[in-house]
Amino acid sequence: MYPDEIKKELASIISMVKVKIEIEKGFGIDTVTFTNTKVSDAIHQISPNSFTEIKSTETPVVAKSIGIQAFMNTKETKIKLLEELRHEMLVCHKCPLSKTRTNLVFGVGNSMADLMFIGEAPGRDEDLQGEPFVGRAGQLLTKIIEAIDMKRSDVYIANVLKCRPPGNRNPLPEEIIICIPYLIKQIEIIQPKVLCALGAFAAQALLNTKAPVGTLRGRFHDYKGVPMMVTFHPAYLLRNPNDKAKVWDDMKKVRDFLKNEFT
Ligand code: SF4
Repeated sequence: MYPDEIKKELASIISMVKVKIEIEKGFGIDTVTFTNTKVSDAIHQISPNSFTEIKSTETPVVAKSIGIQAFMNTKETKIKLLEELRHEMLVCHKCPLSKTRTNLVFGVGNSMADLMFIGEAPGRDEDLQGEPFVGRAGQLLTKIIEAIDMKRSDVYIANVLKCRPPGNRNPLPEEIIICIPYLIKQIEIIQPKVLCALGAFAAQALLNTKAPVGTLRGRFHDYKGVPMMVTFHPAYLLRNPNDKAKVWDDMKKVRDFLKNEFT
């Protein structure tokens, strides 16, 4: 190969490996295994300060990264990882909802958010606009966010399902099982300090329970070490406005938790 072609190939290998390391590190994996000695040699050549303990042998090579956690925490990295994930999801046809969606609804908001809301699935407006919580329920969610002295742009918002169930029917268990790994990846990239599950589907899917939202709401649960408040879905509140006070109580707990985190 000519030197330019070699350079190009090495650059593409490095970029591939870096993204793999970022994602795996973000998902709690401390070490990354390379089976290709050419790859580890290439990393060592191009970015010698980025890695330690890289050995080029015939057996699988383990490279422990240094400074990757700090790298993972930068806004640019999170945006990049979310973008990678979005591109992966845009071509997702793992379940039949891909055939009926207008747009895939990835998620929206601040990649450095301390607070992340998780809803159920896109509705008609969300499907048309490709953004979660933009209809009437979305407007109510915006008010809920503002009620705890935050802006919509401060938080991150995503759904369990990324494509609209036809006619706004409830998500099917098999659709949730197939789609939820995407949400889990989003949470792992964003690393929020608090999660807020809106409604039964988000709460039950993340907590792996069948308990009704009425018994789950109002207190923090543990989702892989992240406190998760459960409250009613804004769409439910539109139908049952008398329960707004309960949601306000739940959100005050979220607000106080975040306040205590920073004082
Ligand atoms: S709902 Fe999820 S799993 Fe199904 S097609 Fe959409 S992104 Fe893929």
